[in-house]
Amino acid sequence: MRRVLYLLAIGVCANALMTASASAQAAPEVTLTRLDCGTNGPPTDVALRFTDTYAYDGVKVQLVFNCYLIKHGNDYFVWDSGQPMSAGPVAPKTPLVDLLAQAGVKPEQVKYVGISHYHGDHIGQVGSLPKSTLLIGKKDWDVLTDPKMGAVANPANFANWISGEGKVEPVPGDKDVFGDGTVVMLNTPGHTPGHHSLLVRLKEKGNVLITGDAAHFQENYDSNGVPSFNTDRAESVASIDRFKKIAANLKATVIIQHDQRDLGKLPAFPASAK
Ligand SMILES: [Zn+2]
Repeated sequence: MRRVLYLLAIGVCANALMTASASAQAAPEVTLTRLDCGTNGPPTDVALRFTDTYAYDGVKVQLVFNCYLIKHGNDYFVWDSGQPMSAGPVAPKTPLVDLLAQAGVKPEQVKYVGISHYHGDHIGQVGSLPKSTLLIGKKDWDVLTDPKMGAVANPANFANWISGEGKVEPVPGDKDVFGDGTVVMLNTPGHTPGHHSLLVRLKEKGNVLITGDAAHFQENYDSNGVPSFNTDRAESVASIDRFKKIAANLKATVIIQHDQRDLGKLPAFPASAK
């Protein structure tokens, strides 16, 4: 009997060791890659539309269009889908799926496609990831699925999910995408009713916060500026305030998605931050 107990004890220890090493192996590798998802137009006179307080007099900013690929273990998450290929001079030079192929990723490996908000320069190629679960702010999804709101947001690109063919998860607040805190959609409404920003926590690079369009350029971010076309001023200001507090608390690298000056904060494609 004593021998049996002894063997059992060894078994339990071995189990514990195996569990410990399994969980060490299970900590997934997370990487972040920037993808070019549009072609730059001329610099934008941001005093025209990007302020409701007559700010930025004479300021011109080079705006850019980015998507992001996040690897989480064997799964992939794509954040925003950029301009459509039909966008004329600002259309991407290379389609999103081709960029993914260059990074060694097949569309069916993309478990989730997260959309910051329903504007055309962020939803242009979402339709090329039909097998991915769509994550989008619930209040933006409500607009996209309301037939009366066709003039505000174009639902055509989301036909695959609106029809029920694809899986969609409307996100009412924050969303911890993989359940381990490494990739979190942050509820930052105001630019649109369901707008989200993104937090990515990397081992080497540290914490990275990607704005979505909670801010469009550095001066806009610094001054808590609100573009005249945002849907809600108070929400916009509260969202920038929240975003900045998270950035300070997590000592995060802040990436303003549309600001060319932030491109150097991540390695050039196809390299990724780890
Ligand atoms: Zn935008």
